[in-house]
Amino acid sequence: MEPQPKRLKGSQFATDAWVAYPVLSEEQSQEVELMEAFAVPIVNKKETSRLVRELNSLYPLNDLQHLKRVRACKEKGSPHPLEVLVCLVSEAPHMKLLSLHSLLPSGDVRHDGLGDPFVVRVPARPPLTRPQFELASKHWPTSFHEDKQVTVALRGELFSSPQKAAMHMYMMSAIAAAKAGGEMGMEVVGAVVVNPETQTVIAMGHDCRGDHPLHHAVIVCIDLVARSQGGGFYSFDRYPACRFTSEASDTLENVADAERRSQPYICTGYDLYVTREPCVMCAMALLHSRIGRVFYGTTSADGALGTKFKIHSQRDLNHRFEVYKGVLSNQCENLMRSGDNIQRLQEHS
Ligand SMILES: [Zn+2]
Repeated sequence: MEPQPKRLKGSQFATDAWVAYPVLSEEQSQEVELMEAFAVPIVNKKETSRLVRELNSLYPLNDLQHLKRVRACKEKGSPHPLEVLVCLVSEAPHMKLLSLHSLLPSGDVRHDGLGDPFVVRVPARPPLTRPQFELASKHWPTSFHEDKQVTVALRGELFSSPQKAAMHMYMMSAIAAAKAGGEMGMEVVGAVVVNPETQTVIAMGHDCRGDHPLHHAVIVCIDLVARSQGGGFYSFDRYPACRFTSEASDTLENVADAERRSQPYICTGYDLYVTREPCVMCAMALLHSRIGRVFYGTTSADGALGTKFKIHSQRDLNHRFEVYKGVLSNQCENLMRSGDNIQRLQEHS
């Protein structure tokens, strides 16, 4: 099995050359959607709390709890200090003329202290990330329950130097496996499964679809993990770069038995490092095997963990996992290019 990562100096691994960014869900990645709403200037600040109270009972912001009712007018020279949100344009279909009387005709809201209404675009959904929050706030003040880990991850600063050194080494193992497979005429893709708790490499493998169309590197690795736990369907013994280790193998037999009984379901809590973004089949296999996190080097046109789909963050599936891309991105991209060259040479020979 591969040697376990040692705490070597970061420079030796050139960990500065790459950044691991999170692959977030569709909701976290999408543009800020805007809706049209009516707002009114508050020309007399003293009326604000009454106006907010009356507007809240007439037009409660039920599905728009993320929006602040009142915003300050920061622009210099603004004749009024504040503006108040009244309702969505869709909530006032009776509006024929844009006037205070047609917007608030019922007498439920006294017009004292209000100016002429206007249309403003407000964020339709609560922001989920800091970039979304910053964009949303440009339109109308919005509350934001920040997930600090996501913010740090989006800056590419989630992993410490020692963590990056270990990640670097694991991806290097995946690249080595990919090259070994490439030399045997397989697609140049490699993968490694790691237990991050014990920093143990459980399995490493490469694409083997030369002898079975479904034996993508990820499938090979998952099967090798299953074999390390006494299961598995296939044998990759003829491929020296496809290997597994049993975490319990070094312990006393009775301890090993106890560990085997308490072993997680295939990949629970494990990390996968793969040189190229997995396809739909591999992403679903990772989901079913309960993988903890996936790190990939470079994207793939039909990739299912960010490019074409985001299977890891589907709400209606029964397991979700974190995905990071960009680990050793240049080397992984070069690997794909070298794979193209090998294929071209084979086609021409
Ligand atoms: Zn695949």
